[in-house]
Amino acid sequence: MSITERFESVKQNIPGNVLLIAVTKTHPVELIQSSYDYGYRHFGENKVQELIAKKEALPDDIVWHMIGHLQSNKVKLIAPFVGLIHGVDSLKLLKTIDKEGKKNHRVIPCLLQIHIAEEQTKFGFSPDEIRALFETHPLKEFENIEIRGLMGMATFTEDKNQVRREFKILKTIFEELKQTWFLNTPYFKELSMGMSDDYQVAIEEGSTMVRVGSALFGERDYLSGQGK
Ligand SMILES: *Cc1c(COP(=O)(O)O)cnc(C)c1O
Repeated sequence: MSITERFESVKQNIPGNVLLIAVTKTHPVELIQSSYDYGYRHFGENKVQELIAKKEALPDDIVWHMIGHLQSNKVKLIAPFVGLIHGVDSLKLLKTIDKEGKKNHRVIPCLLQIHIAEEQTKFGFSPDEIRALFETHPLKEFENIEIRGLMGMATFTEDKNQVRREFKILKTIFEELKQTWFLNTPYFKELSMGMSDDYQVAIEEGSTMVRVGSALFGERDYLSGQGK
């Protein structure tokens, strides 16, 4: 299948108000360049080094989404250009991003990652942590961050009902925050949920951004040395 056919076949499942983020981790710059030539601009990567190497090799008007776990000590490397950081999962990280935003004279768009899966391994604030966070650290503390919404990953399971339940939890927390701490922040409107195996369910449950890799580009080959 050509790049055009791949994008067209996925995009037909995605309504116009939902942003498709093409997840290109482990794939070479040539594939991103072809997607760019097709007309695509939103790409997602989960490793800072790989993201930077690709950014340097590719056109400047690409919007880079950092979708993976981000360590505080690496924020400075992406702060000058990153389009959206999806996985902000600690107060320490928020503070670091704010500081780096200041240094770079920009307001960095972020999403707060919420832990909704059963698995222990997935990162994120618990629902209770996120409710408590803004009591002790009001939004105005983070002048150089724009919190655009929430991100979450469902459990890796065949059980679509469980996946749906977890997405519903994320949507509920999103609405709750919108009615409280984010009442006067119209930019708090994004819900990044859904990957290749569950983006249809995620869209039904209110997703505004889906992060899709393998459904667009095929299975990733982690052994070939093209990143990890
Ligand atoms: C790899 C990755 C994706 C895309 O996964 P696919 O199943 O290939 O669509 C989405 N989100 C995050 C955080 C990822 O690391």
